[in-house]
Amino acid sequence: MAVAKKIQIYDTTLRDGCQSEDVSLTTADKLQIAERLDDLGIDYIEGGWPGSNARDAAFFQEVKRLKLRHAKIAAFGSTRRANIRASADRNLQLMLDADTPVATVVGKTWDLHVREALRISLAANLEILNDTIAYLKKHVDEVIFDAEHFFDGYANNPEFAIDCIKAVDDAGADLICLCDTNGGRMPWEIEEATKAAIVALRAPVGIHCHNDSEVAVANTLAAIRSGAVQVQGTINGLGERCGNANLVSIIGNLQLKLKTLKETSMLVYELANIIPNRRQAYVGGSAFAHKAGLHVSGIQRNVHTYEHVDPVLLGNDRRVLLSELSGRANILYKTREFGIESELTKEQIAALLDELKRLEALGYTFDGADASFELLMLRTLGRVKDHFNFISFRVFDDKWHEEQAPFSEAVIVIEGPDGRRTRNSAIGNGPVNALDSALRQALVPYYPSLAGMQLADYKVRVLDNGAGTGARVRVLIESTDGRRRWGTVGLSSNVVEASWQALVDSVEFKLHKDNVKPKTRPLAVSNGARRNAKSRGGETIVNGVAAKP
Ligand SMILES: [Zn+2]
Repeated sequence: MAVAKKIQIYDTTLRDGCQSEDVSLTTADKLQIAERLDDLGIDYIEGGWPGSNARDAAFFQEVKRLKLRHAKIAAFGSTRRANIRASADRNLQLMLDADTPVATVVGKTWDLHVREALRISLAANLEILNDTIAYLKKHVDEVIFDAEHFFDGYANNPEFAIDCIKAVDDAGADLICLCDTNGGRMPWEIEEATKAAIVALRAPVGIHCHNDSEVAVANTLAAIRSGAVQVQGTINGLGERCGNANLVSIIGNLQLKLKTLKETSMLVYELANIIPNRRQAYVGGSAFAHKAGLHVSGIQRNVHTYEHVDPVLLGNDRRVLLSELSGRANILYKTREFGIESELTKEQIAALLDELKRLEALGYTFDGADASFELLMLRTLGRVKDHFNFISFRVFDDKWHEEQAPFSEAVIVIEGPDGRRTRNSAIGNGPVNALDSALRQALVPYYPSLAGMQLADYKVRVLDNGAGTGARVRVLIESTDGRRRWGTVGLSSNVVEASWQALVDSVEFKLHKDNVKPKTRPLAVSNGARRNAKSRGGETIVNGVAAKP
């Protein structure tokens, strides 16, 4: 949907988004998100409800120190109480104290709410609306009115709903935002009521939808088509119940090209402590992931064959997945990505495809394990050499008292690039953690860059559901060194072995990419004494220097 007119984007992640069941943002989180929203080019940032809690009041103090380049900050509150003047209302006062260029005030427009929730006459509600807006307009540059339940009100008593927004219009509101507060309205109802509001008002209108019927984004677009000029929503659709209209999707749908869209979405997920939704339109990890061989060969000829928009415009990436559905095209795409396209013969590609299918039949998956796949290709080509030789490992698990957490110890013997054997042991909170530490200890003297690498994610999947504890497991490990992230895979009926395979691939991949020569290992103390008496990990005993097997 191309938009000729300028649509204002009004973000309420920091207010409505924080009404999500499982979301709690600190003031520091909120400030960080505000900066990112400003970078993204958002026009309005609703910071919170200064009348409702101290945390929101603190945000308004601190946000003044940020150097926002574009966004205006809005404070949120509700219309005055029924029996007092606006000038005497404490919550309105707190809103003014927030000292923002924009005040957004929510009020009733559905007769049911006026009668049942407020228990006042319809005329008294019109007075509240008019008095509140007129008072705020005297003190704040820009006043936005959120017409709560407008669409339910319009469906049940259209005259009264329109009278309410007219009262606000007469009092001088700068924009009237129509809300589908309960999220139960359909796009055609939104379209009709929005048109009726626009005809009745002088002020421009906005749209604020909730997602209880999974159509908040569609409803928002319907309102824009009918003439609304402001969109309210939240990043990733956070919000009360099923959430608000997802601004990320709306921004994509309006064809606004914002290269930090994905980054902003990820930041909000991270601070809200929510696992990102892979399938999220425009920014999800799978949004531009191609799996079927037919699709992959299509996008290699022309990306428009299977992509409706260029992922780069939204800060996302195109990905090609490898799986049992893969064909030659997926492998060729990967070889191009890894820069070895020209070196593979037809026979090698066929052999690689056979090997891939064989491994996948066993239960390997390379969808989340690009690094293991790259190593597989390079090994087929003879282009990667192992950076160390494995000799043996042992893992012990100990638990000494019922109340005490168990701990693990791993002992690893490897042969380094100089042919010397070393034996290293380390303690960990689990066997994989202990193995990882011991392996790193053994290798860091040769390859110091491994010290900066860490495991970012670890997933275990049981493959043969019926086989009980004898089932095979697949382990996917994601590692990072601060500059890049890569995934590796291991498979075995033993979870430690599967983890070990993924761990070794992860280390080999890093060393291959770093392409550094091993350092000569300093000759360590070799009398068998512990070098570090405080820690049971960290000991290094060199057995038989330069002993070639
Ligand atoms: Zn809302």
